[in-house]
Amino acid sequence: MGRSLMPKGASNEDRFWSHIIKASDPEDCWSWRGGNLKGYGIFHVRQEDGSYKTYRAHRYLFELINGPIPNGLEVLHRCDVPGCCNPRHLVLGTHFENMKDAAMKGRSYRKWLDDESVRRAKKYRAAGFSQTAIANVLGVRSSTISNLIRGKSHKEIRHTNTTTPENDKSANHPVESLACAP
Ligand SMILES: [Zn+2]
Repeated sequence: MGRSLMPKGASNEDRFWSHIIKASDPEDCWSWRGGNLKGYGIFHVRQEDGSYKTYRAHRYLFELINGPIPNGLEVLHRCDVPGCCNPRHLVLGTHFENMKDAAMKGRSYRKWLDDESVRRAKKYRAAGFSQTAIANVLGVRSSTISNLIRGKSHKEIRHTNTTTPENDKSANHPVESLACAP
């Protein structure tokens, strides 16, 4: 089976959906397999004059389903997965709410996986997602997923989640550094 290429002149919407891998469980995140920037999916929308305008995939998705995003509001991920394109996981919020939410969850480009992410990563792997796709959807580096799949550092990955940062400085260790151990 070769991979199907979108026909020339396919609509933006058709091209957009061709980049999304839906999960069988509607509550799970949907993976974006197009380009990404810092974990967020990136989609190039063709304009009438033939040029392209770059959108964040989740914002484009939100507009496809709900119409234009009101001025001053942002599209937030309830699931805290930047690359997720499950419309059920997207909600509108203010920039302030987004920042507050990020600060509370300690969100950034994460270097380790918590228990929930490990569970998801394994599920996506079993469903045939590539390491890159899994890394995108979970907002971590491919090497982190690769280590997990090879069975390295699983204990350490879990360990980082079961200790509180206040009590254990090792919680901030990236999983890559632990993976170097023999
Ligand atoms: Zn999600």
